[in-house]
Amino acid sequence: MIFAANFKTNHTRASTRTYLKVLSEKLSAKRTGDRVMVFPPATALDSYKGSFTIGAQNAYPAQNGAFTGEIGVEQLEEFGIKSILIGHSERREYMKEDQETVAAKYSFFMEQGFEIVYCIGEPLEVREAGEKAVADYLLAQFEGIDTAYEKLIVAYEPVWAIGTGRSATVEEISSTHAVLKQHVKRPLLYGGSVKPANIREIISIDGVDGVLVGSASLDVESFSEMILS
Ligand code: PGA
Repeated sequence: MIFAANFKTNHTRASTRTYLKVLSEKLSAKRTGDRVMVFPPATALDSYKGSFTIGAQNAYPAQNGAFTGEIGVEQLEEFGIKSILIGHSERREYMKEDQETVAAKYSFFMEQGFEIVYCIGEPLEVREAGEKAVADYLLAQFEGIDTAYEKLIVAYEPVWAIGTGRSATVEEISSTHAVLKQHVKRPLLYGGSVKPANIREIISIDGVDGVLVGSASLDVESFSEMILS
């Protein structure tokens, strides 16, 4: 199983360091076979060297250059970062990243050999339009994306389930993952209001290879409880 934490714009460099120290202590006796990934804010990317994967929530598709306010591959690699989230719905919505932008970013970081957690997810009106509408919408989010890339992990995160406390149901996750698995032969995470109370049920669904957790990952007790439960 893959347990990934997306801090978004939360935690400082100092609190990320403490968090990762506590998390590694808590997980030190843990069974092997699971993988833990943490995506802290950019200022905390140098916080940890150890067995978890630390990844960037975003970066600009360039080595370096005149891109005011952005960080590129040179800055990530200084901290040993080789994993990145691409396509998160918050970036698609608030930063106006359209499919073309997302696909260009994906191609660039693929060429750089980064591991990519590629996020897709439908808004509520699409979910309410039924399974076929959901499948069409999600498959369109693979436009321009090389799904054969061996360092790709896909995260299915219904937009209406993110940060709302309302996770998708077992049936919704199960049927959507089944559709996605026909198209992408890579690990498939579920994200959207995953928390200690529902994680066991979610990770036991066929076709779920792990979770991407936002709100409930911010507290190290809660995230470690999810991994260890
Ligand atoms: P959430 O966020 O767990 O707070 O719903 C998930 C995500 O956006 O990755």
